[in-house]
Amino acid sequence: FILHKADSGYNNNSIGTSIFQRPYHYDQIVSSLQKLPLEGSLSLSNNDAVASDFGNIYHFPPLAVLNPVSVSDISRAIKHVMELSEPGLKVAARGHGHSLQGQSQAEGGIVINMESLAEKTAAVVVVNNGEFVPYVDVSAGELWINILHETLKHGLAPKSWTDYLHLTVGGTLSNAGISGQAFRHGPQINNVFQLEVVTGKGEVVTCSETRNTELYYSVLGGLGQFGIITRARISLEAAPKMVKWIRMLYSEFSMFARDQEHLISLENTFDYIEGFVIINRTGILNNWRSSFNPRDPIQASQFISDGRTFYCLEVAKYFNPDESQFMNQIVENLLSELSYIPWTLFQSEVSYVQFLDRVHVSEKQLRSKGLWEVPHPWLNLLIPRTHIHHFAQEVFGNILKDTSNGPILIYPVNQTRWNRKTSLVTPEEDIFYLVAFLSSAMPLARGSESLEHILTQNKRILEFCTNAKLGVKQYLPHYTTQEEWKAHFGSKWEAFVQRKTAYDPLALLAPGQRIFQKAL
Ligand code: FAD
Repeated sequence: FILHKADSGYNNNSIGTSIFQRPYHYDQIVSSLQKLPLEGSLSLSNNDAVASDFGNIYHFPPLAVLNPVSVSDISRAIKHVMELSEPGLKVAARGHGHSLQGQSQAEGGIVINMESLAEKTAAVVVVNNGEFVPYVDVSAGELWINILHETLKHGLAPKSWTDYLHLTVGGTLSNAGISGQAFRHGPQINNVFQLEVVTGKGEVVTCSETRNTELYYSVLGGLGQFGIITRARISLEAAPKMVKWIRMLYSEFSMFARDQEHLISLENTFDYIEGFVIINRTGILNNWRSSFNPRDPIQASQFISDGRTFYCLEVAKYFNPDESQFMNQIVENLLSELSYIPWTLFQSEVSYVQFLDRVHVSEKQLRSKGLWEVPHPWLNLLIPRTHIHHFAQEVFGNILKDTSNGPILIYPVNQTRWNRKTSLVTPEEDIFYLVAFLSSAMPLARGSESLEHILTQNKRILEFCTNAKLGVKQYLPHYTTQEEWKAHFGSKWEAFVQRKTAYDPLALLAPGQRIFQKAL
């Protein structure tokens, strides 16, 4: 296999692409794969779609794509790849392919299209032993948006979300699944009762907090390294009908952060707490990344940041129509404790589905302008609370002072409410901030909108964090050497390697993460 720079006809913004070179035993491998007794199908050509992802920066074509319809298909394929023991023949589960740096790709290997495993029938919602401990059993190839619609038929919904719901269960559980509910419920990986997993040895194992515990915690946040999740049992709560959605602005980062931390420390608080940064001359109505329509749009559209940086606190309170008076009282009390710029309070009421599916509205708009498929050099960081002011000063006050290339989210979470036994790596402190630079690069652009420029800025941010020893961890991490991975995992590295040895000793799974290149 040859790795070379972006000139192989994919797109001018690509960094890593390859032209697939057939391995020596290509014909034998293909014919043995074709003989596998599968219920699903195997595709050996026209697989370009899985050689790309949302990041649109790395493009690695596979040898074959497996479209499984049963767990046995996945188990059989993995066992067969183990027996072949062909160096370079690896296996990647692909959810919705919304990775950013080729994590769901398998160069010259087998990509398992998990969406073909998704069930066409309704998900089953169960109330446990007559007590109200509801959950839903779903295929890991299912999109969260479909799970929302299914569970709402029962008046229920998952507790913890991502900002965007057109991602698969297996894809987000392999990372964490963090959004504005995580300060209270933890990320999505903390809201799963049970998993069915096909390990790197092809074994099908059911695991939970009490059964095959080691595998359960390995796989959650495990970057696809230990097994392929085929089913998940997800914790549910009663779903509200409506959401009061509020945004307000701050000119001082210190006030903004103080209010965010205050809100996440309260028991009776908002149900969703996030925030974002507005950099330089941004008409906020045009730049809000979602379908937020304030009641007073004229006033909101007149707001121009005019060369200054502002911070927007975004909160939401769930309610049912018959509780609106009570809800408004709670919201008023909470708002009275905050120090935002008074005339910048923008409010809206939307249905629960409209709120949760808000980013999809932007997706449709961007798609219609051809701006959804552009390269996305995103950078996601977890920053300890004690260093967030230093970080903000340098990054928003210097590195990104003049411009940003997309939304920048920033909000704190309280780790004392998180289960830390999973593979997810977070900073040491109880409270840390998620800061997400959601940049888009303009195809063929030069200067500040180009992929190179944004990657250079990302590098500057990372270098600053390292040099200033801020104790930052990457979320949706991307590294190219094992040394960097070791540093990322820190004290968790030994355990991570041991788990890999136990569940995927030939290092077949998720090669696109570039953690383990060879068998252990
Ligand atoms: P893929 O990209 O297909 O796969 C991701 C990784 O998981 C790969 O390594 C793959 O091999 C592995 N994998 C996939 N399925 C399985 C499986 N069943 N078993 C084992 N391993 C598997 N993340 C957040 O936490 N919060 C957000 O708010 C958020 N918002 C986002 C918004 C957008 C527009 C996008 C594009 C991404 C966002 N993400 C967010 C990141 C997202 O959670 C991850 O990129 C996630 O991996 C995407 O899911 P996917 O189904 O597309 O996974």
